[in-house]
Amino acid sequence: MDAGAAATFEKLFGHPARVVARAPGRVNLIGEHTDYNGGFVLPMAIPQYTQVELRPRGDRTVRAFSTNVGEQAGVQEFVLGQETPGRGWLDYVQGVTLVLRREGFTFEGFDVRITSQVPVGSGLSSSAALDVCLLRGLREAFSLPLEDVRLAVLGQKVENDFVGAPVGVMDPMACHLADGGAALFLDTRSLSYERVPLPAGVEPVVINSGVAHNHAAGDYRTRRAECERAAELLGVPQLRDLTEADLPRLNALPDPLGRRARHVLTEDARVLATVEALRTGDLAALGPLMYASHASQRDDYQVSVPEIDMLVELALNEKDVLGARLTGGGFGGSIVALARTGTGASVAQRIAQAYSKRSGRTATVLVP
Ligand code: ADP
Ligand code: MG
Repeated sequence: MDAGAAATFEKLFGHPARVVARAPGRVNLIGEHTDYNGGFVLPMAIPQYTQVELRPRGDRTVRAFSTNVGEQAGVQEFVLGQETPGRGWLDYVQGVTLVLRREGFTFEGFDVRITSQVPVGSGLSSSAALDVCLLRGLREAFSLPLEDVRLAVLGQKVENDFVGAPVGVMDPMACHLADGGAALFLDTRSLSYERVPLPAGVEPVVINSGVAHNHAAGDYRTRRAECERAAELLGVPQLRDLTEADLPRLNALPDPLGRRARHVLTEDARVLATVEALRTGDLAALGPLMYASHASQRDDYQVSVPEIDMLVELALNEKDVLGARLTGGGFGGSIVALARTGTGASVAQRIAQAYSKRSGRTATVLVP
């Protein structure tokens, strides 16, 4: 936690907190940019989490403080019913209260202090960790009858409808329903999900490139629009509805729509194949699937950057790494790799050191 950690809840607000809620960041093992196409994803929780401490106030005011945005931001305030977008990080808090009220939930104002270990803008979903733990905190503080899948869907609504981030449903579903021991195999169309444990013999490695996806929102929006246009031209409701038999038809689409659709079609198939490999303990199948996913993101979906490609190549040079790929929305962020159990920590250190030497940037090992 940073310098703001000294500003305890009691110092900030003059009374102790009543409720504490947490939600982890997530790493996606495979299934990238498939969620807004109705497809499959396979995220896991990471150990780093976001926490809210909260206390109902008995009036209509919300006061919020985050230790992660610099103390100069101070305590921010708004009044329930007067949420106004355009206030930076506070939009996540305002979005939560607005969306909850629109859905018919009743609650009063509150004081909230936010702390997080999830790096922001690194492809590990600090935003959904924040939405989800705010929703969990308010659910508990005001006994809101909010069941689990609905809570995650409301997290997505906060980002889509208030913050203005056109994200899919994977992130809040993962931050709310995944855990660190198993991957969450999620069908983003039906929202049915299943936990798939990692087989003995592999452990995840997550390394942040230090390149934040600052201007990714515009590119993300473009990719989404390209997918919608490709689906329209192909005459399917969503790219999820394509099958392998459609692959030849993609060549007839104008560039880059064909490549975008090919990424989504092949990525969905790779998620299913990965789930099968995890279930059967077929470790040899995992690496090629992860690397094919990376190549598809780099060449067809065009969301990688040279620093991420470098990390992936360094990972693949390690004999104990089975596979590696860009994880998260891209344009920077982090890589995920699967390493042989017991080797993850040393492998990750070597990759991070070699990366610093070559790129001049600092990589951060987040897992293990
Ligand atoms: P990510 O990939 O990390 O989710 P996003 O761009 O989707 O990246 O979300 C990052 C934004 O979420 C930040 O710019 C900030 O507005 C908000 N955010 C995330 N975590 C926190 C936090 N602990 N405190 C305040 N704002 C946060
Ligand atoms: Mg996010």
